[in-house]
Amino acid sequence: MSKKTVKDIDLKDKKVLVRCDFNVPMDENQNITDNRRIVAALPTIKYLLEQNCKIVLCSHLGRPKGEVKKEFSLAPVGKELSKQLCREVIMANDVIGEDAKTKANNLKNGEILLLENVRFHREETDNDPEFAKELSKYGEVFVNDAFGTVHRAHASTEGVAKYIPAVSGFLIEKELKFLGDALENPERPLVSILGGSKVSDKIGVIDSLLEKVDTLLIGGGMAYTFYKVLGYSIGNSICEDDKLDLAKELMKKAEEKNVKMLLPIDNKLGKEFSPNTETMIVDRDSIPDGWEGLDIGPKTIELYSEELKKAKTVIWNGTVGVAEFEKFAQGTNSLAKVLADLEDVVTIIGGGDTAAAVQKSGVADKMTHISTGGGASLEFIEGKKLPGIEVLENK
Ligand code: AMP
Repeated sequence: MSKKTVKDIDLKDKKVLVRCDFNVPMDENQNITDNRRIVAALPTIKYLLEQNCKIVLCSHLGRPKGEVKKEFSLAPVGKELSKQLCREVIMANDVIGEDAKTKANNLKNGEILLLENVRFHREETDNDPEFAKELSKYGEVFVNDAFGTVHRAHASTEGVAKYIPAVSGFLIEKELKFLGDALENPERPLVSILGGSKVSDKIGVIDSLLEKVDTLLIGGGMAYTFYKVLGYSIGNSICEDDKLDLAKELMKKAEEKNVKMLLPIDNKLGKEFSPNTETMIVDRDSIPDGWEGLDIGPKTIELYSEELKKAKTVIWNGTVGVAEFEKFAQGTNSLAKVLADLEDVVTIIGGGDTAAAVQKSGVADKMTHISTGGGASLEFIEGKKLPGIEVLENK
């Protein structure tokens, strides 16, 4: 990586502000239902403890839109973090108010303070310079380890780096290494599975992947926009009529670039978009009116599995069906299991829904890398500049 990490700078006994991504899912009683993002932040925090730093952590949680709302408090994160680290994590009641400032001033070396949700201030997402300056006063050095938000130019991800030296933590370093190697230096064949609901969300990603992959397996709702271009009837399946030309262009580009771009050859249909709806399986040229495609069918699972078995590197982003519904999770689960059984293959899973689906199918620990950032990993694949990375010091 061309950017400095915590290892490239002297942090001994320093006061350090760390941006983490503690945006974890919680139930209605504020119990954390998935602590993976907290666990992913531990290596950097432990390293800073070894360096005897005074550690001030900050993060966002959800979208409180500039208002202080109890359900978006980071207090449960503080408790979980304390449990994971087996030491006290002091919780501030605000971000740049009296309480946080007093607690930060009283912080001793080897102690950890967690600020409240930075998005309790609208200035965070506005990347307000004054707010960023206030945040920067918490550290002599800024460590960004929040991969999930590096694609956002917010005060705590980008603005703050204008006032104090900024380096990355281990999580960002790891994410960039796995994604970067898989895209720039992959063992071939490089196969990508792309799913999700819409083509429009992934245009840049498809376009960029067509420059790099050997095979592209398309699934999910976006397949039906391509079907329409090919003249198949798609019933009530999700389709973006204003993206037909674009889908056509992408298919042409695949041909020009010699990329094997496959579409589902059969589909599992639902009568309605609901978990308990009536289902049927049909080939791609036989989708009747009144039904919608909600998963890839068994022949497609077979076809895609064969392609995956030939791969040496796999990048997967987007579920190939509505995996939240048991009846339409089979395609996604089956492909996850195929990947889990492959040997000597690098498997990179993009964040968000795909990561959750792989986790649910019980094979997450068999993947080489599961990204903690959905949007960030997509923008990285697209080759976009990530503001939270750009501002870090160069090596
Ligand atoms: P994304 O956030 O783009 O990765 O897309 C994931 C979402 O795509 C999930 O919420 C899925 O339910 C949805 N999805 C996948 N396949 C379909 C489909 N055939 N029809 C509608 N939505 C789908």
